[in-house]
Amino acid sequence: MNILVINCGSSSLKFQLINSESEQCIAKGLCERIGIEGSRITYTPAGGEKEQTVTAMPDHTEAIRLVLEALTNEKTGVVKSLEEIGAVGHRVVHGGEKFAESVIIDDQVLAAIEACNELAPLHNPANLIGIDACRKLMPGTPMVAVFDTAFHQTMPEEAYMYGLPVEYYEKYKIRRYGFHGTSHSYVSRRAAEVLRVPYEALKTIVCHLGNGASVSAVKNGRCVDTSMGLTPLEGLIMGTRCGDIDPAIMEFLAHKENKSIDEIMNILNKKSGVLGLSNYLSSDFRDLEDGYHKGDAYAICAMKTFAYRVAKYIGAYAAAMNGVDLICFTAGVGENSPLVRTLVCEYLGYLGVAVDQEANGKRGEDIVISTPDSRTKVMVVPTNEELAIARETVRLV
Ligand code: ADP
Repeated sequence: MNILVINCGSSSLKFQLINSESEQCIAKGLCERIGIEGSRITYTPAGGEKEQTVTAMPDHTEAIRLVLEALTNEKTGVVKSLEEIGAVGHRVVHGGEKFAESVIIDDQVLAAIEACNELAPLHNPANLIGIDACRKLMPGTPMVAVFDTAFHQTMPEEAYMYGLPVEYYEKYKIRRYGFHGTSHSYVSRRAAEVLRVPYEALKTIVCHLGNGASVSAVKNGRCVDTSMGLTPLEGLIMGTRCGDIDPAIMEFLAHKENKSIDEIMNILNKKSGVLGLSNYLSSDFRDLEDGYHKGDAYAICAMKTFAYRVAKYIGAYAAAMNGVDLICFTAGVGENSPLVRTLVCEYLGYLGVAVDQEANGKRGEDIVISTPDSRTKVMVVPTNEELAIARETVRLV
């Protein structure tokens, strides 16, 4: 069966068509600047040329119509008709406490997702628009929602409660939810598979280090803690997000700089993280690594502070699980930066971690980067959220 995987943002839409038997991606692409002037679609069939078309996309329905047209195009398409697409899997960012698993989408599910919009105002409404547009254009095709938060719903109370008056949890459901769940789940399972160890027998810490970054503790196949919280702002220092800070800084800064809550939130979300720490050099770790090697003091501080925070979370989660067997690095930075992995692992001597620098220099494969006698294993496992969503979709339909 061919599964169309859709990851819909407010002005962009990523898609992949995946064959569920071979688990190969048959075609993929991206619609950008939806609803904005200069919108364009990029489309790449497997083994073919990437093509980019600038064309009007006033809304998401038009974007999805163009995606379906590209997939069925006589010359460059990969299927003859929409009938060859068996189901659609949609990434949905926030499922609140309602969704601990993926679900088949119906009207009731849509209403329940909408009820979570308040918890992810930037993401969920866009995800819903994508689902709506797809249902219009493919009315007979089953659709599945796969939630970023679902994998973390197994966390115990002591991991998800904040030290706030409990009435705010009871009234508004303010608690830790965690994100990147599809990736944490995929990577922790995949690592166990590669090591040929039962998933349920491992204590694993997954470091998903991309532009957004989070760590999770997976004990015996269940997530027991994760670093992102009510929103994806908490936890690690990220590309542009601050991660954990003293909450009193917000009031202090608002006062000093005469800024509103919205303006402060904008600073914490878009101007902080390694971008802010590097004195706005870049949020991209390739630029920061350049700066690090050239001796730029801000870039060095950004890289070291980023790695230190990751190492602290690893320590916390080793404590939470009463031990750790395996540490996995994944996502853009985790998969591609031997330097970041080295800086993090330098803190982990107490876990008996020893890194094999030759293995650490390799790229693009599932690989153990610790030495054979390293007490805790360290791996790089490239994440594949689209494949994970396609698998969930097949499982449900
Ligand atoms: P997201 O999905 O959160 O946007 P990704 O997982 O795609 O993020 O990661 C993007 C990040 O990966 C970029 O900020 C970039 O710095 C980093 N990255 C990509 N390639 C490399 C590389 N070769 N070396 C270091 N960092 C890299």
